[in-house]
Amino acid sequence: MSLQRLAARLGEVLTPDAVITDPVRLRTYECDGLTYHRATPGVVVLPETAEQVAAVVRLCDEFGVPFVARGSGTGLSGGALPRTDGVLIVTSRMRRILEIDIPNRRAVVEPGVTNLAITEAVRDQGYYYAPDPSSQQICSIGGNVAENSGGAHCLKYGFTVNHVLGIELVTPDGEIVELSDRDPGYDLLGAFIGSEGTLGIATKVTVRLSPLPESVTTLLAAFSGIEGGGQAVSAIIAAGVVPAAIEMMDALAIEAAEAAVRCDYPAGAGAVLIVELDGPHAEVEHQFAAVERICRESGAFEIRVAASAEERAAIWKGRKSAFAAVGRISPAYIVQDGVVPRTALPEVLAGIDRLQEEFGIRVANVFHAGDGNLHPLVLFDDAVPGQGERAEVVSGRILDLCIDHGGSITGEHGVGVDKSRYMPRMFSEEDLDTMQLVRCAFDPKGLSNPGKVFPTPRLCGEVPGVRKGVHPLVESGLAEQF
Ligand SMILES: Cc1cc2nc3c(=O)[nH]c(=O)nc-3n(C[C@H](O)[C@H](O)[C@H](O)COP(=O)(O)OP(=O)(O)OC[C@H]3O[C@@H](n4cnc5c(N)ncnc54)[C@H](O)[C@@H]3O)c2cc1C
Repeated sequence: MSLQRLAARLGEVLTPDAVITDPVRLRTYECDGLTYHRATPGVVVLPETAEQVAAVVRLCDEFGVPFVARGSGTGLSGGALPRTDGVLIVTSRMRRILEIDIPNRRAVVEPGVTNLAITEAVRDQGYYYAPDPSSQQICSIGGNVAENSGGAHCLKYGFTVNHVLGIELVTPDGEIVELSDRDPGYDLLGAFIGSEGTLGIATKVTVRLSPLPESVTTLLAAFSGIEGGGQAVSAIIAAGVVPAAIEMMDALAIEAAEAAVRCDYPAGAGAVLIVELDGPHAEVEHQFAAVERICRESGAFEIRVAASAEERAAIWKGRKSAFAAVGRISPAYIVQDGVVPRTALPEVLAGIDRLQEEFGIRVANVFHAGDGNLHPLVLFDDAVPGQGERAEVVSGRILDLCIDHGGSITGEHGVGVDKSRYMPRMFSEEDLDTMQLVRCAFDPKGLSNPGKVFPTPRLCGEVPGVRKGVHPLVESGLAEQF
């Protein structure tokens, strides 16, 4: 009832076609890229300006109704999963590039602008936007900010947080504020980036533009198994070479990519390594010689070097399509996203092999090998009773392996709704409550994307519930409980 009244009020601050309540149309938005978590949103709105976003959020605040931001819905941790009792605020009509400032190497864009659109707008002038998630053709910059997204080239150039200079956001009570990397004091910009929509909604993003490298060399090395590839990765980094990207795919991932896009990787490869070097011509030439030698010493039986932009695209084709390609060899799969120290890669991969045998579940491995970011694709057939559940267990056990080896439960896809239950495996109650104090400072009513990131009701309370005890900081009077 209160949602109906809220929808009527939303119609007063937005154009009529920007408020969706039709149950059939609402289902378009019931999930993100993590499709096994679904919920039909109470109301969907499509604002066109920051002022409209603020007006919507103020109404949510007035009605005490939760809201969730959504960019392009490509997230893989259920971060944009809507609330049946809430409003989904979709930024797809906020797609303007507002300013391109080449002398200062920056651009100001609305949150719905796609990642790749920024590069396309400045490439002719010799610049690009460096973070490059494989979903870059469709994912939004607002989603990238919320997830602190990475990509193949983040090994050398850093994640979203290293390329965002400022944000305009709507706070959970509907105020429009600006955060900048020039602000003295606490790094609130840093706190917002990666906050997965729990601290408010980004309505404008100022990004850093990087000059296109003078020279790029891409090579593909084929190994009989992943051990050789792993050894090459460690040796390349140990030799002081920081490639723009080092990506690895195992035999099952190669099989899927071949079935989907015919990438024509070397026959008989148990693993392929894609290494991209960029920078000044002389440096790339020098590094290439070292990388080629290391790959051969580590057992590569074939090395291909891209001689043109087309050949470079052909090498990347298999890797960039890897997630979707797995659909060719399995009716369903879970994309996992764990991180381990590079040196632990062989042990963790061996552990994943053991899990495959123990549970009778296949796992295809695709990873940003340079920064130890694994993307195990856990395959299952949802028509076979119990297989989905076993895949879930394997998926969780892989994260255990990552934590046991000094890693993390997420490298770039965020915690969302999917991995909130794993947070207590990495953090103590006090750690989680301390994070929640930050959240409460932005969102005391807990209306901004509730139920994500944190596992249970805590402090200012996403859902009514009882905490086990008072946080030590609150007890000592150093922090306030809202
Ligand atoms: C095939 C495929 C490949 C991928 N490859 C990569 C990869 O290489 N690297 C990587 O890091 N990720 C990758 N992803 C994951 C995903 O694309 C990223 O997380 C991306 O940043 C999500 O952007 P989006 O616009 O789709 O956000 P959504 O899925 O719509 O939302 C993601 C989160 O951001 C929040 N959000 C969205 N917009 C805003 C806003 N304006 N203000 C505040 N919060 C907001 C949402 O509430 C949600 O919590 C991949 C996904 C797919 C499907």
